[in-house]
Amino acid sequence: MSWEDGVRKVVPYVPGEQPKRAGIIKLNTNENPYPPAPGVKKALEGLCYERMRLYPDPESGELVEALAAYYGLSEKQVFVGVGSDDVLALAFLTFFNKEKPILFPDITYSFYDVWADLFRIPFQRIPLDETFRILPEDYIGRECGGIVIANPNAPTGVALPLSEVEKIISANRDVVVIVDEAYVDFGAESALPLLERYENLLVVQTFSKSRAMAGMRIGFAFGNEKLIGYLLDGRFSFNSYPMNRPALAAGAAAVRDDAYFREICDKIIRTRERVKQELGRLGFTFADSRTNFVFAAHEKMPAKEIFEALKEKGVYVRYFAKPRIENYLRITIGTDEEMDQMLFVLREYLEKSIY
Ligand SMILES: *Cc1c(COP(=O)(O)O)cnc(C)c1O
Repeated sequence: MSWEDGVRKVVPYVPGEQPKRAGIIKLNTNENPYPPAPGVKKALEGLCYERMRLYPDPESGELVEALAAYYGLSEKQVFVGVGSDDVLALAFLTFFNKEKPILFPDITYSFYDVWADLFRIPFQRIPLDETFRILPEDYIGRECGGIVIANPNAPTGVALPLSEVEKIISANRDVVVIVDEAYVDFGAESALPLLERYENLLVVQTFSKSRAMAGMRIGFAFGNEKLIGYLLDGRFSFNSYPMNRPALAAGAAAVRDDAYFREICDKIIRTRERVKQELGRLGFTFADSRTNFVFAAHEKMPAKEIFEALKEKGVYVRYFAKPRIENYLRITIGTDEEMDQMLFVLREYLEKSIY
């Protein structure tokens, strides 16, 4: 007998590296290369240091209000958390409690199976087709305890049209369907308009990518009042003050600056489209990404070798040693200058290795 018998054991998620080295080009964790909205700086500078002794608003009112106004929802339909990882983990805990397995794609955000293991939720992986598409019919007529999909999916970058997302939700009204929209602002369709029609839908988004605020840890979710109410019950049974004062002020300021938000999203989309063309010329193939990254495989060189060669030159991208995707690199879209440097290093390496 050992105290270790009673430990809840789990194999944790491994995030992308955050190298301490200076002067590297960091394209490995899908961060935004641009700074947050200028209003965020003002909001942080305007914080009262003396008030840090007081607990923040447990309701996160300022941020919830800003999000509700921006997305045209009632405040009771909005939930916020410490990054969308926090929101998603709590949603798994709250909504996935049937004996039947929850469903998610075989290739997707690798935190889903970690949370399922952590909370002892049975799950089943549904294979993407050979072009990395989610096939809605695979999620229909299957007994399940819930569904989670990322749309656009990660790390593939592929987006599912809204009509297809709706097929999955409407065929599974007896369970909660979570749509993780971490990348939706880079050119995909949000499931937000479906909220009116489906009580079982939870849409989850984040400030980490399109709003350039990964360092503040802010995520949010939309659902009907009842669904959000259950999430809040879970939240307040765990931690009454998840969002700190700086995050609330900075988050609200970011949401209020719509023009800046659109500007940086547009810039990233334009850079992405240019990078796709260049990668194509270098012999890479990839699906049509609607995110701030490209998931690409080279026709001749193994991804792992390219990954290591780039790293040696100070260019960090992401490589997953996993079935079906071990020949792909996930390259985050940075600034035009960063991408030009990445392409330069890549071109040099490929010329040397292939010819
Ligand atoms: C980045 C990411 C998240 C988590 O983002 P947070 O930084 O925790 O908000 C969730 N889902 C997917 C698919 C992601 O790529």
